[in-house]
Amino acid sequence: MIQISAPSLGNEEWEALREPLESGWLTQGPKVAEFERHFAAHHGVEHALATTSCTTALHLMLAAAGIGPGDEVIVPSFTWISTANAVLYTGATPVLADVDPVTYNIDPQDAASRVSDQTKAIIAVHLFGLCADVLALRAALPDHIVIFEDAACAAGAMLGDQWAGSLGHAAAFSFHPRKSITTGEGGMLTTNDSQLAEIAEKLRNHGAEVSEEQRHKGPQPYLLPDFNHLGFNYRMTDLQGAIGLVQLRKLESFVAERDQWAAFYLESLTDIPWLQMPSRPASGRHAWQAFVTRTAVDVDRNRVMAQLFEQGISTRPGTHAIHMLGHYQNSFGFTDDSLPHSRDCELRTMALPLHNRMAAEDFERVVAALQSVRV
Ligand SMILES: *Cc1c(COP(=O)(O)O)cnc(C)c1O
Repeated sequence: MIQISAPSLGNEEWEALREPLESGWLTQGPKVAEFERHFAAHHGVEHALATTSCTTALHLMLAAAGIGPGDEVIVPSFTWISTANAVLYTGATPVLADVDPVTYNIDPQDAASRVSDQTKAIIAVHLFGLCADVLALRAALPDHIVIFEDAACAAGAMLGDQWAGSLGHAAAFSFHPRKSITTGEGGMLTTNDSQLAEIAEKLRNHGAEVSEEQRHKGPQPYLLPDFNHLGFNYRMTDLQGAIGLVQLRKLESFVAERDQWAAFYLESLTDIPWLQMPSRPASGRHAWQAFVTRTAVDVDRNRVMAQLFEQGISTRPGTHAIHMLGHYQNSFGFTDDSLPHSRDCELRTMALPLHNRMAAEDFERVVAALQSVRV
């Protein structure tokens, strides 16, 4: 079976665990701090704060920015559910916008049409590693609306010459094994806003005024800090920080390799008339977290997936449309047709295997299998 995705880990990650295991410092400490410094430098931002996941980074980002009850935050419907869930955790209301069926990213005009007096922010999702058109969003939205990034899929991606994670006010990345680099579970909040970073740092650690490492290494490690905010425990472990550091060093080669194989797919699959290829940015860089195609309107996507499965090739729908999920239909009264492009993407997208453990013959097998599919 050719898997849709597989993490790429080796001896270096194994070795990196030795130091925290031997020192006994397992919670957030020096390895996480080093991972944060390198991640921030790599993505051209001032601050990076590691978290337990992208979902918690999204929540932390919104909470640190003061988003709460009575506020509305615009998010695309075609994304992973946690983009919208994170808004709900703060007590604010997610307002779903439709996506562009070519890029799969939020449609700036549709987003602008959903602005109300309560709208405080928008979360631009860089779906599958392709940066959302943040410049078009900025132009389409009133100035006071804050642009955040869901960069879960976008480690190493660029819009023009600017890195994902530095395109909005703050961003959240994921290190789930389905993404390009992984720490098992894990996430990262990035921002150039020192004040937001300072609040987020406290909220990540129960709202404590000083971090555990600061306390242990400070003059009075026996005294507990004050807690002036309602915080959470969203700290990454140093074991994960150690693995993240190794993975980050491999990010550039992972993305370059993915880009090379994405180009191979784009070239080899163009003669299949019923399969729309993902769009490649004219400038900047697609991180290719996933290679997501779209079947023609008269093709039964699930039948195609079944035929590929029989040939030992795993595929998946790109992601879901949030407005079609039970919790959102029950809470907000959406019907499947509320956001037609997102619905269409949920029903017609198909991710092909693309990861850094695939060999040339695996990619060739996928292409041959697709060419043999009967639609
Ligand atoms: C994977 C993903 C998330 C969630 O990331 P976790 O680290 O699993 O919480 C959020 N948004 C998008 C767009 C994703 O692809």
